[in-house]
Amino acid sequence: MITAQHVNSGDTQNARILLADDDPRLLESLRVLLQLYNYQVETALGGQNAIDKLTSNEYDLLLLDLKMPGISGHDVMQYMSEHNIDTMTIVISGETSLDDIGKALRFGAYDYLKKPYVPEELTSTVNNAVRKKLLEKTNALIQTRLNRSERLHRFIVNNSPDIIFILDHKGCFSFINSKIDNFLDFPRSELIGKPLSELIDDEDADKTQYFFNQAAHSRTGIHTTEVSLKPLAPGRARSHFELSLWPIDENDDKSHFSDGQSYRIYGTARDISERVEAEAFINFQAYHDLLTRLPNRALFKDRLSMAITQAHRNNTQLAVMFIDLDRFKVINDSLGHTMGDKLLQAVSQRLQTCIRKGDTLSRFGGDEFTLLLPEVKNTDSAVQISEKILTEIKKPFDLTGHEVYVGASIGISIFPESGDTMDALIKNADIAMYRVKKTGKDGYQLFHSDMHQASTQRLMLEQDLRHAIDNEEFEICYQPQVNLPSERVCGVEALLRWNHDTLGRLSPSEFIPVAEDTRLIVDIDLHTLRSACRDVRHHHEQGITDLQLAVNLSPITIESDNIVESIVAILEEERFPAPLLELEITENILMNDRQEIIDKLLRLSAEGIHLAIDDFGTGYSSLSYLQKFPIDTLKIDRSFIQNIKNSEEEACIVNAIVSMAQGLKLSIVAEGVENAQQRDYLRDLGCRVVQGFYFGHATELQQLAAQFCAPLNSIKNVEAS
Ligand code: C2E
Ligand code: CA
Ligand code: CA
Repeated sequence: MITAQHVNSGDTQNARILLADDDPRLLESLRVLLQLYNYQVETALGGQNAIDKLTSNEYDLLLLDLKMPGISGHDVMQYMSEHNIDTMTIVISGETSLDDIGKALRFGAYDYLKKPYVPEELTSTVNNAVRKKLLEKTNALIQTRLNRSERLHRFIVNNSPDIIFILDHKGCFSFINSKIDNFLDFPRSELIGKPLSELIDDEDADKTQYFFNQAAHSRTGIHTTEVSLKPLAPGRARSHFELSLWPIDENDDKSHFSDGQSYRIYGTARDISERVEAEAFINFQAYHDLLTRLPNRALFKDRLSMAITQAHRNNTQLAVMFIDLDRFKVINDSLGHTMGDKLLQAVSQRLQTCIRKGDTLSRFGGDEFTLLLPEVKNTDSAVQISEKILTEIKKPFDLTGHEVYVGASIGISIFPESGDTMDALIKNADIAMYRVKKTGKDGYQLFHSDMHQASTQRLMLEQDLRHAIDNEEFEICYQPQVNLPSERVCGVEALLRWNHDTLGRLSPSEFIPVAEDTRLIVDIDLHTLRSACRDVRHHHEQGITDLQLAVNLSPITIESDNIVESIVAILEEERFPAPLLELEITENILMNDRQEIIDKLLRLSAEGIHLAIDDFGTGYSSLSYLQKFPIDTLKIDRSFIQNIKNSEEEACIVNAIVSMAQGLKLSIVAEGVENAQQRDYLRDLGCRVVQGFYFGHATELQQLAAQFCAPLNSIKNVEAS
């Protein structure tokens, strides 16, 4: 005999069973029987009660009597099927009517028992049914879990930031996730069965093939390389990917998936375009000038050193050019940095039209460009290119409405004559360029070894200049300024000389550019102002109380910090009356309407100091600043005066300047008067103050003393030096 323990073990114990019958005794005896098997048994008396219980509870099994008064077993089953109650049902029938049983089975009954039942038969049928039911339940649960897990994995795979794929034995796609859709112009399904190479940019085809073979032949580990994918979707730029391949060991079960296919390689492709682009940009930035996009100094040197090695080996020549723009600083200062930048871009574009493919043009810094011609047949061909550059650069530049003209100074050094190392070639081209600048700009110059001397001299000057003030090597000469109708000296202009211990007496043109480059000019100018005030003050004390003093200030001095305070302090310390001092500045400093310059000049003017524009007429355009700045005097440049008799046009300019100055109530000083004709012309024009060799060279102030009281013509020939 089968015991409950035998049949009923494990999960089946907890199965819930509902017994439905219209006979309470039968119900009770069945309950007792089934409880022996540890089932949870409930009873329903009659059809309606069974329906109520089925509706409100869940049962694993229903034992249903077919023949019940009122609501029969068939009615219950009908109700169940209409209400989707799929409790497994075993029908119990008192009659042997096959019809009834057949009907019940059609309604979905699982099995049937006949009354009166044999207990063994009943329990074994129940146990089988319960076991089947529980198996179904477990299967359904597993199926749900599988579905959920499948959905989860699909989600994870498809939402991966990486392209994920699987390649079959032939290296063809057997799976690829939806990430690839972003890159394709056709449905993803078309890729299935196609080889990996289908996706790879042609440029990387060989590399990828090699990489693939390596990965495929190895049994273990992950293999990673960087490739470009084809821009398959239109308008996509090249995309950079990190491609990782992971061979799947075929002896490992992991390679056999449920669909029975076997796979060889699992792979991912990660979009690293952003990183690659950032790296490319950083690399570009390290070797290029971002404004002009030309190679920078570092890249230029790199190319030059390679070219030198090449030229050395092949016994050929190469040329290095140093190109410095003329007038760039003025344009930058007057039109502003934005225009300056635009000009540099336009210049570099134009320079590029003058060179050939293998040449390297670089922006070396500021307004300096360098050019490497790695193959020049001879010096002449380098010269030809520099001439071409000069002609091109001279053509006007149109900077959004502003027509601008620049020039260039070009220094050329040739390997091997002008130097056989990178540094020597660059330095010597620079020296040659500097020579062009010094001798009037806008031209080219080949380096010669004797230029070295000049450049070392400049370096020496720079060093000596630092000690010149302390060593009292500066001397101030004074050039008389003469009042025209009376021809009396009304003032003097202080002009600096440097008594160098080995080079002798140097004129300002020889050392002021160096002093400006090193900013030593600020101290020099202040030193000159102090000494000149002291000298002239001495003559004030001698009774020439209205003797005026003119002192030149470099733009660099005016730009320096606290310059107004320094000047005012000097006047106070030297007890020099401000209205007798005139500071000479050049018009370029006024060009940009820079507020700090306007402020400084206004404060000087408020102190009573007069301001003069030196070399008036040689600067650039716009006279509008004359009204904005507190200017007292215009000093007409000597180039206009010297041409008074030769050229009608120059005379016209002088006439125009004088009448304009009169209109603006500005004083005029005419510079560089060298003869009586010029003096007469200026006098007739109504020009009151003149200055020039005709009246006297710059000399010691003491030597001029005699003229401060007497009219000039009686003594002027005495001092001509
Ligand atoms: P500048 O201010 O235009 O000075 C006039 C220059 O013209 C002086 O040259 C003077 O000797 C020269 N000169 C005067 N009359 C005649 C003439 O009739 N014919 C000709 N051909 N030349 C004449 P210098 O002394 O060599 O000075 C050159 C420049 O150096 C000055 O030009 C001035 O800009 C600058 N400079 C002179 N001393 C100083 C100074 O202490 N500080 C600064 N920052 N610049 C100075
Ligand atoms: Ca001057
Ligand atoms: Ca001048």
